Amino acid sequence: MDIQTNLKEVLNDLPQDVRLVAVSKFHPAEAIQAAYDAGQRIFGESKVQEMDEKHGKLPEDIEWHFIGHLQTNKVKYIAPYVALIHAVDSYKLLVEVNKQASKVNRIIPCLLEIHIAQEESKYGFTFESCRTFLQEEAWKELTNVRIEGVMGMATNTDDENEIRKEFESLHRFFNELKENYFKEQPYFKEISMGMSHDYKIAVAAGSTMVRVGSKIFGERIY
Ligand SMILES: *Cc1c(COP(=O)(O)O)cnc(C)c1O
Repeated sequence: MDIQTNLKEVLNDLPQDVRLVAVSKFHPAEAIQAAYDAGQRIFGESKVQEMDEKHGKLPEDIEWHFIGHLQTNKVKYIAPYVALIHAVDSYKLLVEVNKQASKVNRIIPCLLEIHIAQEESKYGFTFESCRTFLQEEAWKELTNVRIEGVMGMATNTDDENEIRKEFESLHRFFNELKENYFKEQPYFKEISMGMSHDYKIAVAAGSTMVRVGSKIFGERIY
């Protein structure tokens, strides 16, 4: 298994304006270094401690994206350097990110995680709860966070039509939020969707950022 070959294959599938988050969770620093040496700079992790350790020993110019569920009590560890938090799904979490960001004098970019899959999940806003959250306007006071778009995961299924339908629904929802709340904010432009098995469908449905792990680094051993 050759990380650099896999990486090039994935990049070849992506239009110029779609960014690749190489999801390196559960893979060692050496694997990240190999992708880095091939030019990759954006890496995605889903555990705070793991990301912290890797951040400590890998090159400074890596953009670390936190893609997993983030617990409020752990935000402080990543606030000094995290480049994008993909899965904000509550006002409470956004408040904590804002607080920790202000302590280190940063504005932290965040995406709102939207639950689009058919599977049950504890995480992610529903379309309706997200609308309610944005209508309340309390988030506008949080000046050390910047909401740059949405993130979603499709149902884990072989049914491509279902996956396409879900990604298209996220794209439409993004358009709705853009129109209603972020019309004058050019930075509200990200739709983070697509993983190893479905990123091509996601790109066709308007993804601006795909999160690909196993297709680049191989299967994870948990
Ligand atoms: C692990 C993970 C990915 C990458 O999954 P692959 O199937 O390995 O590409 C993408 N997004 C999130 C939120 C993840 O947790």
